[in-house]
This record gives sequence, structure tokens and C-alpha cells, in this order.
Amino acid sequence: MAKNVHVAEVQEMLKPKNVYIPLASTNSKYYDLFVEVGETVLMGQKIAERYGEQRTPIFSSVSGTVESIVAMEFFSGILVDHLVIKNDKKDDEVEYEAMTGLETAKNIQNFIAEKGIRGLDQSGLYTRFDFSRTIKHVFINAVFQNQAFMGIENDLYFDEMEEVIDGMQLLKKASLSEVYVLVDHDAHTTKFKEAGFNVIKVKPKVSKAWAYDAIKKVVGVVPFNLMDAGVLFTPIHSAKAVHDAVRLGKPVTHTRLVMMCSDSKDSTALDVKVGTHFNDILHHVNKEFKEEMAIFTGSVLNGFTMKTNNFSISEHISSIGIETKQIEENVCVKCGLCNDICPVGILPQNIMDAELRMVEERLYEYNLKSCIECGLCSYTCPSEINVLEWVRRAKRRVSRG
Ligand code: SF4
Ligand code: SF4
Repeated sequence: MAKNVHVAEVQEMLKPKNVYIPLASTNSKYYDLFVEVGETVLMGQKIAERYGEQRTPIFSSVSGTVESIVAMEFFSGILVDHLVIKNDKKDDEVEYEAMTGLETAKNIQNFIAEKGIRGLDQSGLYTRFDFSRTIKHVFINAVFQNQAFMGIENDLYFDEMEEVIDGMQLLKKASLSEVYVLVDHDAHTTKFKEAGFNVIKVKPKVSKAWAYDAIKKVVGVVPFNLMDAGVLFTPIHSAKAVHDAVRLGKPVTHTRLVMMCSDSKDSTALDVKVGTHFNDILHHVNKEFKEEMAIFTGSVLNGFTMKTNNFSISEHISSIGIETKQIEENVCVKCGLCNDICPVGILPQNIMDAELRMVEERLYEYNLKSCIECGLCSYTCPSEINVLEWVRRAKRRVSRG
């Protein structure tokens, strides 16, 4: 999968026949539904509220008619209810209302929460917006997350720079803390500096935990949950979402998605409605689902392997990888490369071994919580073993115990 691909245009795919909006999340399957089957809804209408650590409003991404509720795969094989809305393809919208009143931290925090913005893309190091915790630093990743694999025309990601910068200023006010931007282009460095942000120039490399290293330089010790170190880390499109919420009163109804195929010439960037079915996207890129396809959502290095093709695009998914050739995991040859590359110095091979043998007490000897899920252990493995997946399983076992 690790190939360099160049993408110079974004295709629009904003008229799916139906959308399938996830009503639950990985940490709670409960929700309140505010619409009924047969009811007509508008784009941007609040249709439900998700439980979990925080109650999160859910909005329709299209105008149309509520068809049904179906169980579909969410992350890592969890089945959750999805609301099916038949799209009338008119995009009739509710009347949005921008934030009023003073731009105090509390006012901005409350307003973006009302619009369901909890931080987009929460895989790996990324955190959600949790303003109930003390935030000391906000880090914004202005490097496209799969940059090391894909050459994306940077303008495709920075064509709304003024809105992005305004969103970053709002995040600064909401968190009452300093903002650091990770960039890999000189042109952007100047713009962010002029806007008063701290800029950290990085060189994104596949074999380096470059975001982790950049954050570590500022905060010192970096725990897996960055919030424990007072760090909010989010991709740059979250800043655009904050701008849209506060200035225009808009929730997120569509997202930019990069499809990376092992057959690299098929890789593409798409703007899609939240809730678009994965099969519709496959169809759009002229592909058919095959049993032997390996599908993962999220970054190439640390994305989640999906068990089926029956899932839709939530606002947290910014890339999908498709491996069409079957990956045969070989046996661990105990080369130690995964242990050597691990940026936090835990021993992924030993963790995998203990998990494989189900020696639970040994798992407590390893500092599992420190794993930042960077995926470098899997990347480096000559036997193509998904070492990170074993470490994730071990983490789940220990947290259950
Ligand atoms: S165990 Fe693997 S995924 Fe976790 S921090 Fe180490 S290299 Fe990264
Ligand atoms: S890199 Fe792969 S083969 Fe080498 S020790 Fe780690 S798991 Fe085993």
C-alpha cells in the first residue's frame, strides 16, 4: 500500500441515492431520535442525539425522506444503528443561525458543541474537542495525514485559507491556549505566522512518527491520550468546521475523502456527503467489491480494518484504503525491527507474543497505555504482520481486566 500517488483534483460525489447516518458511536449504542420513518427532513436538520461521553447532536446531510433504521458496521466491526434517508437531491436546507453574543471561550465551546463539532478524525493521536479538560496547547495538523504516501496538490487543501485561519482563531479563543500548526510548506508557514500562530515545520516521512515528535518537542512526555497532557490535536479541516459552525451556523454535512487503492492509478480524492455508503463510492470509482479486498478506514499506517463493505462515511473518516491483493501474514521471525522502531519504546513484538499466548499477567508489564497507535510496527514488519492490531487487542484485554 505504501506507494507515492499524485492527486491533482477533487471529484464531487454529493448526490447519493440514500445516506446512512450513524446514530451511535463506539462508546455508546444509545441515542434519541427526533424524526420518524416517512418524515421529510431538510439538510442540516437535527435528527438525533448520540449518547456517549458527551451527548452529540446528529444532523441530516441531505434533504429527503426518512426510510428506515438499519444495523451497519461502524469502526472495528461494531454494528450500530444507522438512519437511512432517501435523498431528494435538492439539498433544501434549514435556516442556519450564526453564533451571536460575545466570543467568549464558553460561548464558542457551547456553540460548536451544539453543531456537533467534536473534532474531525479521531484516529491515532488525534483528540476530540473536550473543553471540560484543561487544554494547554492546541496542535493543528496542516499536513495532509497521508502525505507520506500521497502527493496531494496542496491547494486542494488550502483553497479556503481565510476560513481555516478564522476557525483556528476561534479554537484559540475557545481553549484559551496557544496554537501550534504543523506544516510542510513554506508558503503556508508565512500565512500561519502572519496570523499569529506558532509554526512547526515538519518533514512527513512514512518511517517516522513525525507528528508525535513535533508535539513531544513542545510538551515533553506524550501519552496516548494527548488530553492527559493538556493537548488538543486535530486536523486542519476541523478548523474549517469550527468556522462554518460559528460564523454560518452550519453542521458538517459533507467531507473530503481520499481513496487509496493498491492499484495506485485508481487513487482519488472525493467530496462526499456524510452517510454515503461505501459501495456507492466503490461504484463511483468503477470498482466492485470482492471478498478478498482488505478495506481500512483512516490513515494508511493506523487505520481500522473493516470487516465488511456494509459501512458508510462518517465525518470522522478522511481516507479509505483498499488493498486488492491478499496480504498473507507470515510468521514472526523475531527480527526485532518493530521493537526498534517504536517511538515510545514499548515492545510491540513482546506484547503481540503475550497476547497471542493469552498470558494476560504479562501484558501488565508493558506500558500499553503509551502506545500512540502510530502503526510504525506494522509498517516495518518484513512478515507483513499487523502488529498494531495485536497491540490494540492487548490494550482492550487489559482495559477490560
Ligand atoms: S506499539 Fe506500534 S503502534 Fe504502538 S507506539 Fe509502538 S510502533 Fe506505534
Ligand atoms: S517486525 Fe514483524 S517479524 Fe520482526 S519481530 Fe516484529 S512482528 Fe516479528
